[in-house]
Amino acid sequence: MRYQRPRGTNDILPDETPLWNRVEETFRTLCKRYGYHEIRTPIFEDTDLFTRSMGEHTDVVSKEMYTFTDRGGRSVTLKPEGTAPVVRAYVENNLAAQGGLSKLYYITPIFRYERPQAGRYRQAHQLGVEAIGSQHPALDAEVIALAMHFYRQLGISRLSLVLNSVGCPVCRPTYRERLREFARPFVQELCEACQTRYELNPLRMLDCKREKCRALLHDAPDIIESLCEECRTHFDALRQYLDGLGIPYVVDKHLVRGFDYYTKTAFEIVSDALGAQNALGGGGRYDGLVEEIGGPPTPGIGFALGIERAIIVMKELGLAEAKREAVEAFVAALGEEATLPALKLLQALREAGISAETDYQRRSLKAQMKVADRLGCRVVLLLGEDELAQRTVTLRDMVTKEQRTVPLDTCIEEVLQTVRNA
Ligand code: AMP
Repeated sequence: MRYQRPRGTNDILPDETPLWNRVEETFRTLCKRYGYHEIRTPIFEDTDLFTRSMGEHTDVVSKEMYTFTDRGGRSVTLKPEGTAPVVRAYVENNLAAQGGLSKLYYITPIFRYERPQAGRYRQAHQLGVEAIGSQHPALDAEVIALAMHFYRQLGISRLSLVLNSVGCPVCRPTYRERLREFARPFVQELCEACQTRYELNPLRMLDCKREKCRALLHDAPDIIESLCEECRTHFDALRQYLDGLGIPYVVDKHLVRGFDYYTKTAFEIVSDALGAQNALGGGGRYDGLVEEIGGPPTPGIGFALGIERAIIVMKELGLAEAKREAVEAFVAALGEEATLPALKLLQALREAGISAETDYQRRSLKAQMKVADRLGCRVVLLLGEDELAQRTVTLRDMVTKEQRTVPLDTCIEEVLQTVRNA
């Protein structure tokens, strides 16, 4: 094969797009119901936006960004996540001036130079929300409730919500030191990446997937015990709200999330129907991000859910039935003279709101009937020599198998009646 799609990318073929659309439509519908409005940001941004917001020592920034220099000599990066661009747009367009809370949602591809495997791609797609402008933990509860509602709406049942608090600039440095102290005796036994993390970003050690690191860090100090008063109160309130809403969760002191901008609430939604890449999505608070990006101090919280992973789970659970929509009518033309009248009829059907197809390959009537059948057409309109001479059309109901001759001028009405009564 001369050309292949780039490693780690996928073609989403027509058999798959109905399922993708179902997932996206479900998300859009719920976002509207929860009061979130769509925002679309560019596919690339200044590299610096991501480096500063996510943190230069995170895996994504240090190893996985699609960064290049454009012809003007600027360093740009294909977006590896959705939050920083939305916050940049929020600040740049002064959305804060509209007053109150900005509740935004997005659907976007993301790009990360990762080692491709099941559920992990170099171009993936995310559904996300960002609620910017309140630090009330009730907003955290709403955001989490929306994510859980989304999965419930899709029928995805085998999942759990994992919750933690990663503290804030007041309490995190203390915890970071406690963690370093704990790990100091066995730093040499940790994997190379964790040895670097130990120096630069110790919380990330908790997230290492290697068995040996996990075992060594199993009894690491609990971050919850290091939280300052404000973070602890926030976390307790959120737990109360989730309990009150009947949303089950487990607290995992090892949950830290991948980016530096997170403060307080961190959460992930995981499913055992996924393999090693078991996270369906995740999110958290980022109370310092707006300011970091150049806006006034403004708290925020959001999440990003992976579309590919939702679809993997739906397939695993047998929820992925999404057939192509049937075509309502088929125009079968016989003979070259019938081509233009058939085209006109096809156009008239479509203008009347009826989905319609025809044959462009000059196949026999029998072959055309087969195509109509495969497309699920309710009605076939046949235009042959006799019909042309009499300005009629033969209308065949593919369900009742009845066939009758109707005037060409009124056949649209008849088709409408047949397909709408179906
Ligand atoms: P993150 O913010 O990195 O935790 O990403 C949120 C969600 O996006 C993850 O839980 C995945 O469902 C999805 N995701 C992130 N990166 C990838 C990737 N490389 N391939 C597929 N899905 C991804």
